Amino acid sequence: MKNLEELLKQETFSDEEIAYLLGLTGTDECNQLRTAAYDLTTELLGTEVYYRGIVEFSNLCELDCHYCGIRNGNDEVERYSLTQEQVVDAALWCGEVGYGSTVLQSGERHSPEYIDFVENSIREIKTKSISETLPEGLGITLSVGEQTLETYKRFHEAGAHRYLLRIETTNPELYAKIHPADQKLEERKKCLDYLREAGFQVGTGVMIGIPGQTIDMLVQDIRFFQSMDIDMIGMGPYISHHQSCMYDKSMMDVEPLLQLAFNMIAVVRLVLRDVNIAATTALQALLKNGREVGISYGANITMPNLTPREVRPSYQLYEGKPCIDEGRADCHGCLQKRVESVGRTVGWNKWGDSKHYMKKSL
Ligand code: SF4
Repeated sequence: MKNLEELLKQETFSDEEIAYLLGLTGTDECNQLRTAAYDLTTELLGTEVYYRGIVEFSNLCELDCHYCGIRNGNDEVERYSLTQEQVVDAALWCGEVGYGSTVLQSGERHSPEYIDFVENSIREIKTKSISETLPEGLGITLSVGEQTLETYKRFHEAGAHRYLLRIETTNPELYAKIHPADQKLEERKKCLDYLREAGFQVGTGVMIGIPGQTIDMLVQDIRFFQSMDIDMIGMGPYISHHQSCMYDKSMMDVEPLLQLAFNMIAVVRLVLRDVNIAATTALQALLKNGREVGISYGANITMPNLTPREVRPSYQLYEGKPCIDEGRADCHGCLQKRVESVGRTVGWNKWGDSKHYMKKSL
């Protein structure tokens, strides 16, 4: 193996090299990795971090992912669904304050009424958000799980153009351990293909630190991102939830878990180069400035929460989610300072699409 300095100058990496980088723990070495990823982000994507104001519009879900706090089998969570008016209001607010893009996220459902609701919400947001600063309206990312190709096409036609569907892990045995038997890894992969076919910029990602997950599995996850030509990545540490089926399984200690999550961001940046990578809220659940550190390791997207304050506590996929007592205006004031604290600027009023995707569509 070359020395670290030489290794970090490469543009391609072997599996062994990726595993070595993911496993770094020493402060100096991790800082070298962080600097290389941060500098590459600046070189390829510039200094701007883009906001996607996220509206968690319903915690109703038909599925039962073992790790999730709002899974269908959890009877203790209070269920809610925002009205279309509330969803549109939250998204339009984000346009008014300059965020440029919104994410609509909910638990996974398939009823015709639900699909109509999502489609109509997208259409209304798109039409009403057109302004001088946003001549094409808000950028809309969807994250509503596995759907049919026809449904994906309807959502895309209505005006959403990015979609996040996390694979969580690409290892078949581990996937089977953390999902009920009727939720299949192959189905999820097929949906990622459908999303591409429907015309979306395609995002996926994994949980980092799942009990039983190895560094080699994470290497294969990164290879999967490459083989699927993924445009956007959203990854976060596995944090257990006391109402999930995996609560008795051990979670990694916070310090090594965070380091592994930061290393994963940096290595994905070095390997995939020009994709968008989100500094997810789960990082902040473990470390107050976790999102900023994520940005310093090569992330270029962050997702301020626009979910109305009164229902925020009911949308906890994992324990300790930050900012659940704050309103959207509180997040707005706080986040810019956080982004600037790591030498980045906010890409106000821009969609901030994946350069990786844009290059392909030229
Ligand atoms: S992770 Fe998503 S699809 Fe799975 S149970 Fe939770 S909300 Fe539902």
